[in-house]
Amino acid sequence: MNYGIFIGGSWIDTSEKIEVFNKYTKELLGTVGKPNKQQVEEAVQNNKEAFKRVKLTPHQRSEILARMADKLKEHKEELALLLTRETGNTIRESLAEIDRCVFTFTACSEEAKRIVGEMLPIQGMKGYENKFGYTVRVPVGVVCAITPFNGPLNLASHKVAPAIAAGNTVILKPAPTTSLSAVRFVELLMESGLPAGYLNLIFGDADVGTWLLQNPLINFYSFTGSPEVGKKIKQETGLRRVALELGNNSATIVCSDADVDLAAELCARKAVWKAGQVCISVQRVYVHESILEGFINKAKEIMESLKVGNPEDMETDVGLMHTPEAADRIEQWIQEAVDNGAEVVSGYRRNDSQFYPTILTNVKPDMKVVCKEIFAPVLSIIPFQKLEEVVHWVNDSEYGLQAGVFTNDIYTAHYLTEVIEVGGVNINETSNWRADIIPYGGVKNSGIGREGPRYSIEEMSEIKVITYSLKLP
Ligand code: NAD
Repeated sequence: MNYGIFIGGSWIDTSEKIEVFNKYTKELLGTVGKPNKQQVEEAVQNNKEAFKRVKLTPHQRSEILARMADKLKEHKEELALLLTRETGNTIRESLAEIDRCVFTFTACSEEAKRIVGEMLPIQGMKGYENKFGYTVRVPVGVVCAITPFNGPLNLASHKVAPAIAAGNTVILKPAPTTSLSAVRFVELLMESGLPAGYLNLIFGDADVGTWLLQNPLINFYSFTGSPEVGKKIKQETGLRRVALELGNNSATIVCSDADVDLAAELCARKAVWKAGQVCISVQRVYVHESILEGFINKAKEIMESLKVGNPEDMETDVGLMHTPEAADRIEQWIQEAVDNGAEVVSGYRRNDSQFYPTILTNVKPDMKVVCKEIFAPVLSIIPFQKLEEVVHWVNDSEYGLQAGVFTNDIYTAHYLTEVIEVGGVNINETSNWRADIIPYGGVKNSGIGREGPRYSIEEMSEIKVITYSLKLP
């Protein structure tokens, strides 16, 4: 698989190339083109011209998105295998990722048909009896979608599908290490009937990203990735609108009345999903001291039963860290914690970029494994006595994406939903649960804006007000 960049419906060659490797075998999977600054400008210019030249009706947008959902279903196995090879995620995780893409395209296809405005009750104002007005939602123009490595097609779907539903054109820049799945994604969308220029695809890292941020023809930036890059995007893009989905050091609280086995099993499994490289991965679990021992034993039993190995094997439960360097970082963080009194209950072994599911106890709030985003299959279990103290610890974070709570007491549940400072609280679930239909996003350094078909369409469109002055009879 060797590709250039995709502009205006054609593949264009570039002098520089980006190599994409199989993260397990280290074999070269293929190459994609790295554009120079002028080619990035041509790509965005082409998006802008397509936006002005070709107007798709809501019905046409809906049909294209529905056809894409069918194509994703048809190519599910092929796409999942490619995802597994370029990410290191397990094949079961990749198959689940394609199912989510199908859902997101289907939901955006439906939403495209019902983008509505509202009547404005201007005549209720004295002296304005001859006025009549309403709002419509219009596309913003060119949307720039920048995605990370951990869920390449799920996150591209959550940006590209609503952008098209709202009537925008899109320039997509995936993470360099996971560029090949984006090629197939774009090919399938073009086969679904998307007009040339509606979706352009370029590759690269910070340099190409910076040229995109500087391009004044782009009207909206939809970014998922690290808070560091998210802050740069906010700084560079001035008055233009952004949606930023960033990191988290997600907390889950397990209260004394919770179903301990259920909570421990879900926390253990959801701490290792995609080897912990999920922005809402279960990282900190605060467990009431009265049930601590049972919780630790069950979580350890589950973690140690999980199969670590070749991500292409259907039996494998835990895939790879994206790079050996990422595994190096986690090893250092855990060693630092252990040197300061943390205890390893399970795991803390690695084989190149394969990191074994790990449980830590005796951790302290200022240890990196607790206060930074770990992004690895590592669970820290922390005992608590009083709800007030656990709320303080959960909120004592620079992040606020999602949290989980296990309790069977409705008053405790309600109290915690009110006081935890995050974008979403899951009761009797971990932090690591999301349905693609819900508004998803965070507060504090976890981001700005909400994703999810209806919410992204709102963000990627503008309200336009129309008023009429009428002659009264
Ligand atoms: P990253 O920030 O390093 O890279 C994300 C994307 O930004 C890549 O495409 C990268 O090439 C691009 N980029 C890098 N520098 C840039 C610049 N200066 N200007 C423009 N673009 C630039 O993130 P990553 O390591 O690929 O992904 C991991 C991060 O993503 C974690 O922090 C994780 O929490 C976050 N994430 C968040 C969500 C969410 O929905 N909140 C979902 C998945 C991942």
